[in-house]
Amino acid sequence: MDTQTACSKIEGIVRDFITESPENTLCNRACEKAFENPLVGFSKGDDPLYDAYKKHVGEFHWTPKEVFTTAFPELSADPGELTVVSWILPQTKATKTDNRKQQAYPSERWARSRVYGEIVNEKLRSHLVNALQKEGYPAAAPALLPQWERKTSETYGFASTWSERHAAFASGLGTFGLCDGLITPRGKAMRTGSVIVKIRTDPAPRPYKDHHEYCLFFTKGVCGKCISRCPAGAITHAGKDKVRCSQYIRSEAAEFVKSNYGFDGYGCGLCQTAVPCESGIPVKQEMKS
Ligand code: SF4
Ligand code: SF4
Repeated sequence: MDTQTACSKIEGIVRDFITESPENTLCNRACEKAFENPLVGFSKGDDPLYDAYKKHVGEFHWTPKEVFTTAFPELSADPGELTVVSWILPQTKATKTDNRKQQAYPSERWARSRVYGEIVNEKLRSHLVNALQKEGYPAAAPALLPQWERKTSETYGFASTWSERHAAFASGLGTFGLCDGLITPRGKAMRTGSVIVKIRTDPAPRPYKDHHEYCLFFTKGVCGKCISRCPAGAITHAGKDKVRCSQYIRSEAAEFVKSNYGFDGYGCGLCQTAVPCESGIPVKQEMKS
């Protein structure tokens, strides 16, 4: 398979799952979709960024080659023979509309997308792995490997052996905002996932040079809307306090979800909605106007 056909085929598998599978559901009474049409990006296993993540995030952060060797100790692959497939699953219009109105806690749709939406994301990871393996291409989802672990980064605090957002950044899908979320062409209100596969591709160059390029605060010194949206006071001009955010999401917000929506959930996402980067790249929008 040539490199372009490989990319189109993989993109098709991800898109079809999200647009057609009944598994893409918020699991509410109306069985609404959890996510809208996805974005798919690619990066090469020998992209120098993956080695750089070991320095920036921590030595524990896997390279694509380490993921492959962990999943398939019996197989060999040069880093350049591997491709990281990354995707963005945008929240639906209904979910974003609901969450925009919230001032302290997540809307029900948002809380559902955090729990049931992540189940969709997991199923998509497995679906893509199975589809690629069936075609004879060894593939693995880092986040589904039993060896995947939460870790603490000296620089970033909460971390893990594989960061989906960093894989998406490497794959040309977006840059980081002040609140730490990834701002993508479909905005920051999204979830992301990835799979590594032994297949050669030739990804397009990343459309940005700086890891904060799409955030108004870093590029123009304005905005900071995510600061005032945060009910936990976890975002400042210095960035996001991950511990404070996590404590809020897993205690107060979780109690609210349980007592108001009747399921064990959590989440918040206020900094991802009712902000200029919610559904697109604000820097580009501003440049157009
Ligand atoms: S709300 Fe503004 S400051 Fe915050 S991440 Fe988005 S663009 Fe950046
Ligand atoms: S930083 Fe955390 S607590 Fe604050 S708005 Fe964002 S998700 Fe909610």
